[in-house]
Parts: sequence; C-alpha cells; structure tokens
Amino acid sequence: MDFLPIFLSLKDKHCLIVGGGAVAARKAGVLLDAGARVHVVAPEIEPALATRSGIETVISRFEAHHLDGMTLVIAASSDRATNRQVSELARARNIPVNVVDDPALCSFIMPAILDRSPLMVAFSSGGTSPVLARMLRAKLETLIPHNYGRLAIFAERLREQVKTHVSDPVQRRILWEDTLDGVVAEKVLAGDEDGAETLFQQMLEDTDSVSHGEVYLVGAGPGDPDLLTFRALRLMQKADVVVYDNLVSKPILEMVRRDAQRIYVGKKRDDHTLPQEQINDLLVRLAKEGKRVLRLKGGDPFIFGRGGEEIETLAQEGIPFQVVPGITAASGVASYAGIPLTHRDHAQSCIFVTGHLKDGSMDLDWDALARPKQTIVVYMGLHGLPLLCARLIEHGLPANTPAAIVQQGTTPQQRVFSGTLASLPQIAADEKPQAPTLIIVGGVVTLREKLTWFYPQIG
Ligand code: SAH
Repeated sequence: MDFLPIFLSLKDKHCLIVGGGAVAARKAGVLLDAGARVHVVAPEIEPALATRSGIETVISRFEAHHLDGMTLVIAASSDRATNRQVSELARARNIPVNVVDDPALCSFIMPAILDRSPLMVAFSSGGTSPVLARMLRAKLETLIPHNYGRLAIFAERLREQVKTHVSDPVQRRILWEDTLDGVVAEKVLAGDEDGAETLFQQMLEDTDSVSHGEVYLVGAGPGDPDLLTFRALRLMQKADVVVYDNLVSKPILEMVRRDAQRIYVGKKRDDHTLPQEQINDLLVRLAKEGKRVLRLKGGDPFIFGRGGEEIETLAQEGIPFQVVPGITAASGVASYAGIPLTHRDHAQSCIFVTGHLKDGSMDLDWDALARPKQTIVVYMGLHGLPLLCARLIEHGLPANTPAAIVQQGTTPQQRVFSGTLASLPQIAADEKPQAPTLIIVGGVVTLREKLTWFYPQIG
C-alpha cells in the first residue's frame, strides 16, 4: 500500500487551489462539497470559477505567503514549474499537497469518488492509472442504488434503540444486516422511511424470540477467486464463522468477512486434522450458538466434497442450511489448461472418478472407464497414478492414450504435465507435481496444443 486512504474533515478549513482553469474549477467543486473555504490564486481565473459563490479569488502569480493558514493545497496550474514550487513549499511546511496529474509531486492523491452521502467510496490506483480507478467507480456506480445513503441515515436514527434492545453484538449485527439488506431497506430506498420504521420495530420485537444459526455450504471453485459465484461471495461476506479446509485458496479466504472467526479443519492426504464426523458436529454446534456458519469447500461441495454427509447431519438436527454450487476442479482446471472435456471427435462422454487409494487399491469399475471416446477425470489420483494407468491399459485402453496431470489448476502455480498412460507415471515421478492435482485421460488432452494460442492463462 503506497497511500493510506483516509477521509479528511475540511469543514470551514481554508484550502488553496493554485490555477484558474477547468481542472482547478473541478477541484474547487469537490472542496466546496466537503465544506471547505476555498481560495483560488492564479494570474488568470475563468469567469465560471471566479464568480462561483464560496470561493475567494486572488489574481496573482503564486507566492509563498498564499500558503499561510491553509489546511490543504492543490496545484492545478498548467505551468509545471509553478506546480513544483507549490509542492516544495507546501511540503516544507507540512501542508498536504496534491499536484494534478503529477504523483511524484504529491503528498496526497485525490481518489475517484462514489458519493452516496453520508456513505462514500473512494477509489485510487495509487497514482498509476486514474482512468482505471474511474472505470472501477463507474462499474460500482451502476450497482449501488442512488438512495443508498438514506439507509445510513435511517440506521443512525435507530442505532441507540437497537443498542439498548439487543445487547448481544452478534445478534445485533444480524439484525442490522437483515434490516439493511431486506424489506426494510427496500422501503427506505423507495423513500418510505415511516413504513420502513414500522417494519423495523416489528423485527426488533422478534429478535427476542429468535436466535437461529444457519449453515451455508459453499463451493469456492478450484482456486481462482474470479470463479466464485455471486452468491458464494455474498454469503462469504455475511458469515460469522468460516470452517474451511486446505483446498480453499488463500486469496479466496481473504474475501471472507474480515472479522469472521476462521476454523481450519485440514484434510490434506493422510492429514485429516478433524475427522469428518467432528466437522459435522462442529457445524451443528456453531449453528446452535446462533451463528451464520460458512462451510467453505474447494470446487463443488457435492463432487467428492462430502457435502452430502454434512447436510445430512444438519437436516437431522433441524438446522437451516443452503448449498451453493461451485465450479468443480474438473471444469475449472480443464478450461484453464485448454483441454475441453468433451469434443465431437474425441469424447462423447466424460466421467469423474476418485483415485483415492484404499488399502493400496482403487475400487473402480475399470471396464466402464476403459472405453473409447470417453474422457476420464481423476480426482485425488496422483498417489495411485501408476496403478491407475496400469489398470486402464489392462482393461483395454491403448498405452499411448493421451493423459495429463494438472497441478494447482486455475491458480498462478498451475502447471500441466502431458504424456500418455504409459509415460505419465514416470513424468510424475520426475516432475513431482504439487497438490492438488487432477488427472485427465483421453484424446481431448491433445487439443491443448492447438488451443494454447487462445488461452493466455494456460500454465
Ligand atoms: N469438491 C472438490 C473436489 C474435492 S476432492 C471439487 O469439486 O473440485 C480434492 C481433489 O480435487 C484434489 O485431490 C484434486 O484432485 C482436485 N482438485 C481440487 N482443486 C484442484 C485444482 N485447483 N487443481 C487440480 N486439482 C484440483
């Protein structure tokens, strides 16, 4: 972080703008909005700026004494030497200074602003690309209703009452989130604050009787945070506690609400930090404490994720839950590796299996797997790879059937090792791919070479 974002109170503070053109006028407008007393100094000042109320103008070249009594300075003149002089003198006096379009001369930079007063969002590219920051602002502008700030005013009005009525901070936050994201909010946004308040008072009465926790069983996809669903993200930001395992990538975990409690339950191969039954019990216990529990799982919870077992326990205990699908490793990894799972010429079917070894063997229907024109995707298969390849060959697949291992697919560490059923075990032994890895077997693997051109993200 090169700049610390802060929100500065400028009410009735004297602020100087050096420059009298269109840019200076824009900056003056922002400072006036913040309640500042704006002084403009320049040899020439645009009439629109000179006549604007609330601005004091001085027709002059900039001189050091113009800085006297100023809380903040913006240099917006077209003369670089003047801007530099303003910057040097202001910094010598520890007055925060911004020089338009010249980050090197700035002690602070001006963000792009999304104004939903009293809610404010400031965007900055740290001086690298103001256009990018403005584009981001434009994106969010369309997502945040114009009246959003009224919600903040509404909430402020009721804050004390809620504080005295709901003493438990967790319950209080849940009440606020339900309020600011539900029917009450809709009424406020529609301009009906009175109707909103009536509804809200009813909700407040109800909080005495309810303290239901719930569980969100959420698929986090194979690693790249861009592959999360909107619903996953929304629930990640709502949860009080997150229960996750090692397949959930770090950047994704960082998107979970900052103050949510984090519980790691492990699950690397041969390192089951918490056995499944205890995970099931943990989810039940946390939900019974009234918490919103996010059970975050890699890929899709219903594909080799034991999601079914977890919700079975929840259902038995009568705990409300919802399941959010995620992009399973097979589809995420295959796309990022440039291997289509089906293809008219190569594969009419695709089968997902687990290659987990149990007592040194794999309990799979080999005849069903070793079929022509079928893609096989093997989860958890690296350890048993020699056995897997040998069995497939034994059951009729040609030894030169293309096959690939994809390591840490969709992440910056993605690597693809391709070969054939005959060569892949040795490739794995030599290259030692890093977990998690997915094995893809079938003619589609050869398409990767053709498609690499079109897939900039391929590792
Ligand atoms: N529910 C998950 C799968 C859990 S089983 C899903 O739908 O994707 C764990 C196995 O998934 C790993 O052993 C590995 O085979 C595979 N896997 C998960 N993420 C992966 C990734 N980013 N790259 C390669 N394989 C991955």
